Amino acid sequence: MKVAVKKQSNLKYRCRVCGYIYDPEKGDEINNISPGIEFIDLPDKWRCPVCNYSKKEFRVLKNNNPA
Ligand SMILES: [Zn+2]
Repeated sequence: MKVAVKKQSNLKYRCRVCGYIYDPEKGDEINNISPGIEFIDLPDKWRCPVCNYSKKEFRVLKNNNPA
């Protein structure tokens, strides 16, 4: 039985420029990011696959906020 561990995991991040959402469960095929990679673990060079802006343009998407 798995115990919920309190850590920042599986957080989705949304690009505030184009609205692209990075989902760690899916990764990012375009940039060759495997599923399971957390957003914070993405390389600094990583760019939004849609608009090519940097990680700094991403904001965390709260799980309880469907928008
Ligand atoms: Zn973007």
